[in-house]
Amino acid sequence: MRLPVFYFRILEVIALTNNILFVDHLEKYFFTYQGIVKAVDGISFFIKEGETFGLVGESGSGKSTVAYTVVGMYRPTKGKIIYKGDKDISQDSRKRPLAIKKEIQIVYQDPGTSLNPSMTIKDILELPLKVHNISKNHEDRIKKVKELLEMVQLPVSYTYKYPSMIGGGEKQMVAIARALATNPSFVLLDEPTSALDVSVQAKLINMLIQFQKKFKLSYLFITHDLSLMRNVASRVAIMYLGKLCEIAPSSEFFKNPLHPYTQMLLSSIPVISDEEEALKPKKIISKGEIPSPVNIPPGCSFHFRCHKKMDICSCEDPIITEVNEGHTVRCHLYTK
Ligand code: SF4
Repeated sequence: MRLPVFYFRILEVIALTNNILFVDHLEKYFFTYQGIVKAVDGISFFIKEGETFGLVGESGSGKSTVAYTVVGMYRPTKGKIIYKGDKDISQDSRKRPLAIKKEIQIVYQDPGTSLNPSMTIKDILELPLKVHNISKNHEDRIKKVKELLEMVQLPVSYTYKYPSMIGGGEKQMVAIARALATNPSFVLLDEPTSALDVSVQAKLINMLIQFQKKFKLSYLFITHDLSLMRNVASRVAIMYLGKLCEIAPSSEFFKNPLHPYTQMLLSSIPVISDEEEALKPKKIISKGEIPSPVNIPPGCSFHFRCHKKMDICSCEDPIITEVNEGHTVRCHLYTK
């Protein structure tokens, strides 16, 4: 991948500043009988303390693989993950210090599978307290479990229920309570609302925003729902076939989307106000579907679907260009 010199300088500066997370040229490849799956293919981004960084992409774009690699479930094929400015956490979770594991938590998409059905809610919430030695004794842990349930607005009477005895939204509240039990600094939210009803989604998002303020949390919010990011994320990144197409502050992102893929996604999301309608790109008909990551097309991987495709696009992979401050795009249209 060819990158301009200034891009490396930006990355050096970013690595030295006190961000909660810096992902540097991260690659995660899977070696299968069908071929090499480049799920994450050389991406770099940073997340500032206290911000919500939205990572958006279709199914198969590699966004969840990014989350699982950052949290330590996968070991990177190449590249670095730096936590709080100077802690290299690129190794898998078995080698991570317990103190770092305590600070980085994850909420999964499907609470139905992320909560052990054979454990009571008390056992589920008590486990991280035991592992991280947070409470002094059993009474102290029970008290903390009840506080966690109250924090996510669930009745204390749920303490001895099993996950199968409560609703989907309530299960996700338990999953959030479990993530916050260790008093983390950084939480990865992997499509936390996509399995829930719309009314529950709004409640959960409001809760996450309140917790962020109260506990000074930083979020990596992964979703396929771009409209959700308008009110939640401080910065938004778009991922396609393992690569980042565009990163921008939210205000700039929704006013001035540059990458043809971003424009295509934004043109198809529903809006509720005239102001949002005015900012929406003209309708672009979505062509095709995301190809298999085993057979990534040469050149720009989006060229089969792109409404602005040029001759160069099918043979040369575009470089990342910074178009405005903090607004980067990977497309030949913006290469000087
Ligand atoms: Fe479209 Fe070419 Fe830009 Fe890729 S590089 S998004 S094919 S214009």
